[in-house]
Amino acid sequence: MSVPVKKNDRLTVYIEDLTHDGNGVAKVDGYPLFIQGALPNETADIHVLKTLKNYGFGKVIEIIQPSPDRVDAPCDYFKQCGGCQLQHLSYEGQLKWKENMVRNVMQRLGKIDAPVLPVKGMQEPWHYRNKAQIPFATNEAGQAIAGFYKTKSHNIVDMERCLIQTGEADAILAGLKKELATIGIRPYNEHTHEGMLRHVVIRKARATGEVMVVLVTKKRKFPQKDAAIATIQQLVPHVTSIMQNVNGDKTNVIFGDETIHLWGKDVIIDTIGDVRFEISARSFYQVNPEQTEVLYKQALDYANLQGDERVIDAYCGIGTISLFLAQKAKYVMGVEIVPQAIEDAKRNAELNGFTNTYFEAGPAEEVIPRWYQEGKEADVLVVDPPRKGCDEALLKTILEQRPKRVVYVSCNPATLARDLRVLEDGGYQTQEIQPVDMFPHSTHCECCAWLELAD
Ligand code: SAH
Repeated sequence: MSVPVKKNDRLTVYIEDLTHDGNGVAKVDGYPLFIQGALPNETADIHVLKTLKNYGFGKVIEIIQPSPDRVDAPCDYFKQCGGCQLQHLSYEGQLKWKENMVRNVMQRLGKIDAPVLPVKGMQEPWHYRNKAQIPFATNEAGQAIAGFYKTKSHNIVDMERCLIQTGEADAILAGLKKELATIGIRPYNEHTHEGMLRHVVIRKARATGEVMVVLVTKKRKFPQKDAAIATIQQLVPHVTSIMQNVNGDKTNVIFGDETIHLWGKDVIIDTIGDVRFEISARSFYQVNPEQTEVLYKQALDYANLQGDERVIDAYCGIGTISLFLAQKAKYVMGVEIVPQAIEDAKRNAELNGFTNTYFEAGPAEEVIPRWYQEGKEADVLVVDPPRKGCDEALLKTILEQRPKRVVYVSCNPATLARDLRVLEDGGYQTQEIQPVDMFPHSTHCECCAWLELAD
C-alpha cells in the first residue's frame, strides 16, 4: 500500500474509532492515522506528525464537528498525565464505547455471537482507586515534587490532587512534599541513586475506612522517622497504619523485600460483599473494590451454584473469587502462580471461617491436570487469567475434562475472544458476556463470560 499522506500535511479527517491508548482512528484511503485527542464521530483538522509503512500519527489542530459525547476533562493534568485516557469523553460515552468495543472484538477476533450486555458502570466514577503509588523526586529548583508519570515516560507531572484516587492520597500528595525539607528527608533521584524517599503508597479500605501509608525508602536507617510519622498523622488524622519499605536497588520496581512496621497496625481490613480481606503493605488487592464486587457477583450468578458443586478457581490471586464462590459451593480449589498470594488466600479463608477451600501455588496449566488425575474434579471451572489469556494447556485440559460450566473473567477482550473460540470449537457454547467498568476514564474493560457444555 502506498502511504497517502506525509509528515507535516494538514488535512480534515473523520474519526471512526478509538485505540487502546485513547487515540482517535481516521482512515485516509484505507491508511490508518492515530490522532491524539480526537474522539469517534468527530471531524477534525489534523497535523500529520509521523508516517510509517502501515499507519501514521497525527494531532488535532481543531475539532470541526465535536462528538456529542465530548466533555471538558475535569482534571487539570489530564493532557500530561498518563493515568487516564478518556476524561474528554462523557462517562455515558465511555460506557457505550466499551460495550461496542467488546462486541466488535468478540465478533471480529472470535466469531462469538453470544449477547454482549450493556457495561455495568459506576454511579460515581471518581475517587474509586483504593491504592495510590506516588513517586517523589526533586525539580531543577531543588524542591520536592510528587505526582504521576507522563505518558510513556519516567518524568513526573507534579500534582496537588488526582480525581481517581482517595482524599487521603491527595492529602499526602499535596502535604508531604511541602514538609519534606523541614523534616530533613530528601526525595530519591533515580539517575544519581541519591536521596531517601522513593515512593509513598497509600491504601484505603473502602468498607472500613482504614488507611495505610507506606514510605518506600532507599535505606533501612531512617533517623527522621518520628517526624515523618507525626507529619503523616497531621495530614491524615485517621490513618491506622504507617509502614516503611526498603528498596536499595537501582530499579523501576516500587517495593523492596523488607517491610518495617513504623506505627499502628500492620494490616488494614476491607470487605467485598460479605467476605473480609486482610491487606498488608505489599499484598495484591483489587484497586476498585466497589466494581470488583459487581464483577464477582456476576461470576457467582453465572456459576449458578446450588450448594453441591465442586469448583476450581484458576488464576485465583488472593482468592477473592474463590471465597465469594465458597459461600455457595461444596468446595472451591484455587490455584495461583504467586506463592505469597496463596498465603494471603489461605489466611483470608481462615479469617472468614471457610473450611471448604483448598489453595495451591503453581502454574494452573500444570496443577489442574494433576488435580484431575488425583480425582479432584470440578463441576464448575472459573478462570481469571492475566492479559495474555489462558494457557493453551489449560484450555486443552478443560476440553478433555469437560466441566459442565465455565465462567471466564477477563481483563482483555482480545484474548477472551480467542479463548472463547477455542472453547466453542471444543463443544462449549458462550451464553452471555457482561462487561464491567472497573477503571473509569481508562480504555480498560473487564468482562465476565458464561459458557455451558453443549449437549
Ligand atoms: N482472581 C484474582 C486476580 C486474578 S489476576 C483476584 O480476584 O484477586 C491474574 C492472576 O493470575 C495473577 O494473580 C497472576 O499472578 C496469576 N497467574 C499468572 N500466570 C499464572 C499461571 N500460569 N498459573 C496460575 N496463576 C497465574
